[in-house]
Amino acid sequence: MAFELPPLPYDFSALEPHIDARTMEIHHDRHHGTYVNNLNGAIQKHPELEGKTVEDLLGDLSSVPDDIRTVVRNNGGGHYNHSIFWQIMSPDGGGEPSGEVAEAISEAFGDFASFKDTLSKAAIGQFGSGWGWLYLSGGRLSIKGFPNQDNPIMDGGVPIMGVDVWEHAYYLKYQNKRPDYVAAWWNTVNWSAVNDRYSEYR
Ligand code: MN
Repeated sequence: MAFELPPLPYDFSALEPHIDARTMEIHHDRHHGTYVNNLNGAIQKHPELEGKTVEDLLGDLSSVPDDIRTVVRNNGGGHYNHSIFWQIMSPDGGGEPSGEVAEAISEAFGDFASFKDTLSKAAIGQFGSGWGWLYLSGGRLSIKGFPNQDNPIMDGGVPIMGVDVWEHAYYLKYQNKRPDYVAAWWNTVNWSAVNDRYSEYR
């Protein structure tokens, strides 16, 4: 069974004015779509990998054959990261978390403002293309910037929420102003979905 592009769970325009419709359309249909196609192309060369989940592949890249390892890392990573990204945003997003994840964030980072500042700085400070991730590692919440389509799962962690800081995620509306995009992105965060992920994986 080939990997499939998951439908966006809301309209392209749903995250306006924070993220514009044209960016969402290109980002989902073309960028994410291309990651899925390239991942499937790589797996076709190694039918023994069919049936593995994207988590299986990324969580154990050393077992992926040499000739497709980089393609799987970049495009499997792209597929995995964006599948999470669409889910942890919502037209009804923003504000502050509640539930278990809110408590865990306060415990790990002191308070919500410190957490927000730390994740924002990790994302804004990621040189070139990449992501800022909040993730579980050894049972603890951590924050770090990751290059390209890398993800904490490649280091044995579990991603909880992340912000895409590739230029394709913001350039049409924000051009070089990555900090403005990251500030606006907080208004889209679907805390209910983030809490669900935390509760499922903690
Ligand atoms: Mn992206």
